[in-house]
Amino acid sequence: MDHKVFNFSAGPAVLPHAVLEKAQSELLSLHGIGMSVMEISHRSHHFEAILAAARDGLRELLNVPQNYQILFLQGGASLQFSMVPINFLAKDGSADYVITGAWGEKALIEAKRCGHAEAVYSTAGSGYRSVPSDGEIAARPDAAYIHYTSNETIEGVEFDHDLDGGNVPVVCDASSNILSKPIDVEKYALIYAGAQKNLGPSGVTVVIIRDDMLERVPAGQHSLLDYRKIAENDSMLNTPNTWGIYIISLVCEWMRSQGGVQAITHRNEAKASLLYEAIDGSDGFYSGHADPAARSKMNVTFRLPSEVLEAEFCGDAATLGLEGLKGHRSVGGIRASIYNAFPKEGVERLVEFMKDFADRNG
Ligand code: PMP
Repeated sequence: MDHKVFNFSAGPAVLPHAVLEKAQSELLSLHGIGMSVMEISHRSHHFEAILAAARDGLRELLNVPQNYQILFLQGGASLQFSMVPINFLAKDGSADYVITGAWGEKALIEAKRCGHAEAVYSTAGSGYRSVPSDGEIAARPDAAYIHYTSNETIEGVEFDHDLDGGNVPVVCDASSNILSKPIDVEKYALIYAGAQKNLGPSGVTVVIIRDDMLERVPAGQHSLLDYRKIAENDSMLNTPNTWGIYIISLVCEWMRSQGGVQAITHRNEAKASLLYEAIDGSDGFYSGHADPAARSKMNVTFRLPSEVLEAEFCGDAATLGLEGLKGHRSVGGIRASIYNAFPKEGVERLVEFMKDFADRNG
């Protein structure tokens, strides 16, 4: 591949080159049918096969038990901030939120529109640098659910364990680390993820939901906000994002060709270690945002001694084909997003550049 650019964007993010090539080769005529995937009916058997491939691919890769449904929705992960409480937070109920970054905050704001929702744990006061350790927090026994964000994309803090909710259903926003490492799906009642980091393009959201949760959806729900109806209709209550689901099916195929989630995990760990070692070995020129125990393997966030140097760093990096390194506007600094499809070679190039930049400016 011609790697003129290494794309560190937080999302939409880099896709596997093999996936783009396959999509390109099938663009004008899907499997030789003379039509593009974007031109065929979602009710056609051609598309049914794609939907099944995406669903079965995710089921296999994530080891999703049969008593969970895998749904493909629209509205981004952000719509899930609303759909979760609309479906599961009754007016007289209450829900627990674990807030370890900006996305969790946004989820809580939407939940509060529906009923009583509260941050039972928050690291806002210390600038979102850490996550609770395994077993540190317990959901209130009467909570309708406990919600957390397994990887906070903006701050770059990640849980290294599946949160244990006890008897309380656990809902997880896994938008920015789904498929990056094995998870124990049985610990969750609902997992959701916008596709545009590790799964495919933007515009499609994956929801993995346990069957008993579907039974809790209140009657009379608006159809397109009703998980049960969507599940009953195989994610085709209305026209789904056919293109997005197609790309997810190709990403699953690619993941399998790479050895599955376990193999990808090792690669992700190696990539992240290279970057954190470069930060830690810089004599303080670079300082990581997250506490070491909470460091994200997907979004590596760090600061330089000044904002002027940070701007220069991004500018110089871009001239070398290292794109998308500017931190989120709300926190500043540098963010290197290194999702599953991001090549190790790009991380090595960044590390080289970091050393050179620090030598010149330290
Ligand atoms: N949650 C997390 C963890 C995210 O990273 C993002 C997007 N970057 C969202 C939610 C919102 O996703 P969307 O733009 O698909 O609504």
